[in-house]
Amino acid sequence: MVLLQSGETPLKSGNAVVLSGMGPRPGVFTVTNMALVLETSGAPPPPGDGWGPPTTGTTNEYRIGLWRVRQAQSVAGPSGPVLQINLMKRVLMIQTDDLPGWVRVVTEAQAHGPPRPPEVEERRAMKKGGVAPPRRCTYCTQLSPPGSIKCVSCGASF
Ligand SMILES: [Zn+2]
Repeated sequence: MVLLQSGETPLKSGNAVVLSGMGPRPGVFTVTNMALVLETSGAPPPPGDGWGPPTTGTTNEYRIGLWRVRQAQSVAGPSGPVLQINLMKRVLMIQTDDLPGWVRVVTEAQAHGPPRPPEVEERRAMKKGGVAPPRRCTYCTQLSPPGSIKCVSCGASF
């Protein structure tokens, strides 16, 4: 079972095989309102494929935040149609049933998904030569300097 985070809801789940450069990775694939989640039943997905480290508390659950998803579509794979999910820099290929259903769910979830994390926004702003935006505290709504790890007004962690 997927370890759900606060406010997270599973939207669609099913058996799937993630096609990877280092061999197929069978498991259960779940799309939530926050992330793509793979629970592997064998070897972990290779680090270069875009899946992060295992979710804290599990050894077989890997996530990709929806904010990294650009597009989902059904494409022709080596042995039949597959679900192709384009990330920022990578492409996932997933063998599963009900491709139109998955495309619809991933597309919908991505459209309504959470925004990019603030540290990612900051890095993007810095790369463009701009100035990183100040951080707004979600607790007391005051602004702190870019890169702060705590609110300078109330001390809440970012
Ligand atoms: Zn604060």
